[in-house]
Amino acid sequence: MSVTFRQRIRAALANPVLQAALDANAERRQQAFKAAFESLPQERELLRKRAHAVRAETIAHLDSYLEQFIANVQANGIAVHRAADAKQAVQIVLDLVQRAGARTVAKSKSMVSEEIHLNQALEAAGIRPVETDLGEYIVQLRGEPPAHIITPAVHLRRGEVGRTFAEKLGVAYTEDVAVLTRLARQVLRQTFLEAEVGLSGVNFGVAESGTLCLVTNEGNGRMVTTLPPRHIALMGIERLVPTLEDLALMLYLLPRSATGQKLSVYTSLIHGPRRPGEVDGPQERHLILLDNGRSALRASPLAEALYCIRCGACLNACPVFREIGGHAYQGAHGAYSPYPGPIGSVVSPGLFGVAEFGHLARASSLCGACREVCPVDIDLPKLLLRVRAAGAGCAPQWTAAGNWGGDVI
Ligand code: SF4
Repeated sequence: MSVTFRQRIRAALANPVLQAALDANAERRQQAFKAAFESLPQERELLRKRAHAVRAETIAHLDSYLEQFIANVQANGIAVHRAADAKQAVQIVLDLVQRAGARTVAKSKSMVSEEIHLNQALEAAGIRPVETDLGEYIVQLRGEPPAHIITPAVHLRRGEVGRTFAEKLGVAYTEDVAVLTRLARQVLRQTFLEAEVGLSGVNFGVAESGTLCLVTNEGNGRMVTTLPPRHIALMGIERLVPTLEDLALMLYLLPRSATGQKLSVYTSLIHGPRRPGEVDGPQERHLILLDNGRSALRASPLAEALYCIRCGACLNACPVFREIGGHAYQGAHGAYSPYPGPIGSVVSPGLFGVAEFGHLARASSLCGACREVCPVDIDLPKLLLRVRAAGAGCAPQWTAAGNWGGDVI
């Protein structure tokens, strides 16, 4: 029997570790967010209106920007693959990994890989995926999905991480964060050296140059994309900006909104595989562009959800997310979506069906905090109301899949 949303909410509220972790996260993120935007040379409101316009233009003309992007990526020497759905994307990855004879895949953070259940597919094929982002590594050791799109282990305190490392890595229990980090680094360094394939997400693709932009804080993104002989990048088709100038605007906003940093520690602009005379970099680079419902979403009244740059600020600001955490946002019949919080309550029903995920949109007070913090000014309350309307059977024509319907909260 699947657990209902109401039961997940009750369990979250009764979990003192989760509550303490979520309180600490909300406090820390809010202060950092405020401080980061104070340092902007221009008014935040002006920048986010511009960012909204850039994303609106991109999504409105997605087909032509995709065409330009693909031509430039190919001209840069990267092989491009298109996947209509999760099954196709998984098959492309499996083919590439098996062709390389790989036993280990070193992964940096990719929500698209969570969306297509890639780790499970790799494991079923006898291939070992290793998450190398520290938060992702922790949740992988615990056999859990990420609880947040930016901070996957947000639901844990240092004691839980210490116990997980002691149990899974056979080391002495410690709550010392520096020691825990050093331990993870030792394991992961070896993985970078052993892995025959590196797999990453893509934060932004730049249409005019065919650039793949990756933003990370731990350096693992660079390791994954440069050390193994083959690199596979997974990207949703909507993650484009037209120009490098537009990318600069997004890079003003993304780290400030995500972690309260003026700039992420590592911003990688990738253009191709290793060139003759270069001493590092993979011999092959592949880009997999995933649709998986995005084209249908673009044609629906929820299209604005595709403007999202996955900063996670709306999760941190949401009074509901701050009480129940990311693991509560699941399908009515147990289906999994990696997108929690306000944006997840629109994207999950939009991509994977209102019948399974429509109830999530009811977990909102519609206070507007999510829209206020969104760096691309997505009108999330409006979109949440549209999902609710569809869930109540008011707008069945909105979905190509025709699977809108009410659900039990
Ligand atoms: S909807 Fe806005 S605030 Fe939420 S993750 Fe996306 S870009 Fe960030």
